[in-house]
Amino acid sequence: EPLMSLRGISKSFTLGGNTIHALRNVDLAVLRGEIAAITGPSGSGKSTLLNLCGLLDTADGGEMLYAGQPLPAADDARKTLLRRQTIGFVFQSFNLVPVMNAYDNVDFPLYLLGVPAAERVRRVNGALERVGLAGLGKHRPDQLSGGQRQRVAIARAIVKHPQLVIADEPTANLDAATAAQIIALMKDLAHEHGTTFLVATHDDRMLGHCDRALALADGVLLEGARHAH
Ligand code: ADP
Ligand code: ADP
Repeated sequence: EPLMSLRGISKSFTLGGNTIHALRNVDLAVLRGEIAAITGPSGSGKSTLLNLCGLLDTADGGEMLYAGQPLPAADDARKTLLRRQTIGFVFQSFNLVPVMNAYDNVDFPLYLLGVPAAERVRRVNGALERVGLAGLGKHRPDQLSGGQRQRVAIARAIVKHPQLVIADEPTANLDAATAAQIIALMKDLAHEHGTTFLVATHDDRMLGHCDRALALADGVLLEGARHAH
């Protein structure tokens, strides 16, 4: 069973009296443990698709299933809970809280979830260690390199043991060596834990490591072939 299924999903925006069809009749099955890339030119609907799959936004039409359960468009409370409990986010510009050190940035989702304090300490230290940042917990984002910041962001995304990680151009701001490390880390996590990664990317360094590429063109999704690694 797929982790997430989209059937006939559409999403429009109205801007100055014009209707913009950001997604048109999208069908997609996101499999557990896969790293799926979403590509397409600017304005083709990538962010809109990531927002829907990340349960941050609601489609106008179509059906979504998550972990086998229908996700009624109107049930915002349920989507918020599922998002907090099971989905992690990683961004191009890292989106860390600048006044919090690395440890507190990673701890924040667990705090929001109401995880008991002792369990939080164990999990935050585990996640920092997993991304290779044990010992750097006291550093604020401005005291870390770009690659280290993205590792903090990945630790923050995985600390709640998510089923799905949504990543928006996660390697765009990183040099080649650092990008390669971040990609390897994502692949290892997908294989170790069956975590699914949905990644909007133009980065050829990343695309070669994805299980498949989904191309968006003007809101229409063209599914690429699945490749074996
Ligand atoms: P991409 O991420 O591929 O650049 P987006 O999903 O951001 O594409 O945008 C798809 C289309 O929807 C674009 O034409 C964009 O201008 C439009 N769009 C996206 N979000 C909004 C919004 N909140 N209001 C109006 N138009 C939007
Ligand atoms: P923990 O020590 O947090 O209970 P595990 O021993 O199960 O976690 O896993 C080791 C590390 O792998 C953890 O520190 C965690 O950050 C990461 N991890 C665990 N589950 C997932 C998951 N579903 N997706 C990604 N990373 C995970």
